[in-house]
Amino acid sequence: MGQRLEGKRAVITGGGRGIGKAIALSYVREGAQCVITSRNLDDLEATSKEGPDGAIKPFVCDVSSDESVTSMAKFVNDELGGVDIVVNNAGIHAAGRFLDIDPATYSRLYEVNVVGIVRVSQAFLGGMIERGRGSIVNIASTAGLFESPGQAPYNASKHGAVGLTRCMGLELASSGVTCNAICPGFVDTPMLDGFAELVGAESDELRNQLAKRTPMGRILSPDEIANLAVYLGSDEASGMTGQTMAISNGMRMS
Ligand code: NAP
Repeated sequence: MGQRLEGKRAVITGGGRGIGKAIALSYVREGAQCVITSRNLDDLEATSKEGPDGAIKPFVCDVSSDESVTSMAKFVNDELGGVDIVVNNAGIHAAGRFLDIDPATYSRLYEVNVVGIVRVSQAFLGGMIERGRGSIVNIASTAGLFESPGQAPYNASKHGAVGLTRCMGLELASSGVTCNAICPGFVDTPMLDGFAELVGAESDELRNQLAKRTPMGRILSPDEIANLAVYLGSDEASGMTGQTMAISNGMRMS
């Protein structure tokens, strides 16, 4: 157990599995209290049970719905008495050739991967600005930094998340609230199983192919992303805002 987030209250969207789950478990190990959200209560309850008693509270919330985010924010404020860290991690993926993907898929991904960040951040910013401090951590992607083959809607939405992070960082800078983004490369989570299904590959085979595209020759563990999320949520990162940091096994070093 560490103390880097002692006394901090955090909300983590998409906290029931994958990267969000790793962030929630790292946060409570560092002394934070968390609410985790997603659309699936079973995942949330299972993650909650892995943390210390009562430290991770589950709440079902769809980040693409105004009403759902409003009731989640009420729950979080009632349970925790305010929020110091918002981790916008919930995200969805799509894959396929540009010519085969319809415009509705772009709207669906934008609604979750970009507008979801706006909705959840706005729900908590009033309290954070009033207290003069807080950290917003957006989980974007290396797909938000450069091109990625066969993932145009995902790539466009993650470029949106990166641009949003820069604008939020700038506009919030004088308030004491920071906003930064983590851009992971390929991470070993259920999202890669969905990716494999979309392209008609075996999960292990896709993981091997993705690993070969990185200079380190491997994919990342969710904990490697959570380590940076701990730093960005802590007071150690108080002077950093509007930044995007890649953890990508060396992809695109220059
Ligand atoms: P994952 O295992 O599929 O988890 C995604 C999480 O987001 C789940 O908890 C999911 O729960 C939640 N979610 C999806 N749509 C939601 C919605 N409308 N409202 C609320 N929650 C929603 O994926 P992951 O790999 O951990 O991804 C986490 C983040 O990292 C995403 O933003 C993803 O784009 C990003 N990322 C992942 C990788 C990678 O290689 N895995 C690389 C770069 C960036 P429900 O479906 O139950 O709602």
